Amino acid sequence: MAAPMAAMAVRESEYEFDRRGVLFVLSSPSGAGKSTIARKLLEAEPGMGVSVSATTRPIRAGEQDGREYHFLSTEEFKARAARHEFLEWAHVFNYRYGTPRAPVKQMLADGQDVLFDVDWQGAQQLFQLEGGDVVRIFIVPPSLTELERRLRDRATDSEEVIQFRMKRAERELSHWDGYDYVVVNDDLDGCFEKVRTILKAEREKRSRKPGLIGFIRERQEEAIAMGLATR
Ligand code: ADP
Ligand code: 5GP
Repeated sequence: MAAPMAAMAVRESEYEFDRRGVLFVLSSPSGAGKSTIARKLLEAEPGMGVSVSATTRPIRAGEQDGREYHFLSTEEFKARAARHEFLEWAHVFNYRYGTPRAPVKQMLADGQDVLFDVDWQGAQQLFQLEGGDVVRIFIVPPSLTELERRLRDRATDSEEVIQFRMKRAERELSHWDGYDYVVVNDDLDGCFEKVRTILKAEREKRSRKPGLIGFIRERQEEAIAMGLATR
């Protein structure tokens, strides 16, 4: 499955076993609070890497090339896609969005967990590629009325764009079953704690820890040496 990309270096104490990094995917209908939760998660987990996507959409006020996204022309995006430089890519809201492959590989090789802010198509493709190392979380608003209020409060979009995002929300919600977890973002702190708890639990999964087998074998040898068992 994901062996060549697997990180084997995450180790926090003597009894923390080498494990592969988690590819942690957050998706949501636009305005539900995914970027807010991602920011809080990166503050709380400073060792976590983040995948900066490429996009053909125009840069928004307050955004910086290379920070929120790598802003590319359609020609450049297509050329990179043709060279297989994206781990996944998709059309979203009439533009192209893609996850650059090389930085993700590097972060995983360095032993980092990696956060992805991609839509359902990205979540699906990453899961197809990396399987069990991918954890997919879908953040949903408590109601569509509240979603609209948040989009207006955020004050980054025109009325036309807000209406477009509201129309898209219903379609995006229909992809809820393509995720491992669905978390309602009603109370922000409560939602954030759930997301962080999921990350912590997923890091502990036996299947992510190839180093465990050596430890268990050593304990079995120890049992033999202590006369508790025979070969
Ligand atoms: P997304 O990344 O999903 O498009 P944002 O993180 O930009 O959404 O959040 C949209 C708006 O809603 C922002 O103004 C944010 O501060 C606000 N927001 C996020 N979570 C909550 C919450 N639980 N309660 C109230 N407002 C929230
Ligand atoms: P925005 O333009 O509002 O930042 O993002 C629009 C949508 O594109 C969001 O749902 C976001 O998750 C998604 N998106 C951002 N980057 C990627 C990517 O690299 N791949 C995919 N598939 N979706 C992305």
